Amino acid sequence: MDTPSPKALQSFLDELNATMCDRTEWGKVADYIPELADVPVKQFAISVALPDGRVLSAGQNKTPFSIQSVSKVFTLACVLGRIGDQLWNRVGREPSGTSFDSIVLLEREAGRPRNPFINAGALVTTDALLEGRIPRDTLTELLEFLRAAAEDDDIHIDKSVAQSEKLTGHRNVALAHYLASFGNLKNSADLTLGTYFHQCAIAMTTDQLARAGRIFARFPNAPMQLSPQQARRINALMMTCGHYDGSGDFAFRVGLPGKSGVGGGILIIAPGKASIAVWSPGLNNYGNSQVGTEAANHVARFTGWSVFEG
Ligand code: GLU
Repeated sequence: MDTPSPKALQSFLDELNATMCDRTEWGKVADYIPELADVPVKQFAISVALPDGRVLSAGQNKTPFSIQSVSKVFTLACVLGRIGDQLWNRVGREPSGTSFDSIVLLEREAGRPRNPFINAGALVTTDALLEGRIPRDTLTELLEFLRAAAEDDDIHIDKSVAQSEKLTGHRNVALAHYLASFGNLKNSADLTLGTYFHQCAIAMTTDQLARAGRIFARFPNAPMQLSPQQARRINALMMTCGHYDGSGDFAFRVGLPGKSGVGGGILIIAPGKASIAVWSPGLNNYGNSQVGTEAANHVARFTGWSVFEG
């Protein structure tokens, strides 16, 4: 289906924002750290970056939120750019069918996490990004990557979120040490964990996230380009593993690759057509943004965008 005109798309986004804001059921904010537990649940934003450089938005598109696991897709892009296919010796590419912070499969599969988006796999990916560097340089590299992709220098790490992640991240600590016991961490568990907690604490607005996501949508005029193969592969992983245990349902309902985070953000890619960021902090039972997932469903239906279109 053709992309709707920017005017039609903007009116649709305005209506969508009004519809979403009228809702009574917003889901439940993540409550494992106070910085997320204290975010007011009734908030919504959507931004759509188009190939011509325009970004159409509605709702609270200038409010920064904690991108959390959405960061994993950008870390993966950085690592693949740096070491390429070597990463796959250490991490798989299959949906896990277990919760994002599960440890059970790690034992059965000898310390090779199922995919780069579950926490164990994200820790290995961050560990690979760290190799040969100090954490501050690694985090600067990741931030510079995001700023360049979004063409916006105003993207930062929320230090209090990082600190709280560290204080409460017992499962991540366990996962990191378990990976280390199988020889699948090259740096000390503490270094990898510290870097991971900071990457999860990056704050962005939907405008910034939609612009950064253009690298996966492969717009010819995007300020940075991934190789076609890398973009295809990362999109395939987002489609199969990007929504925790709700990945199949998201693919079924929306038909586009996406990566969600417990801060309520979702990055959704319509290859060649749009990079979409939605945010609403209340989560559904799968840990994905409740209103954000519904909004994505509406966008897919209105635009006809789907990787499965004929
Ligand atoms: N910082 C969170 C954790 O590792 C990220 C969770 C998420 O967004 O999936 O537990």
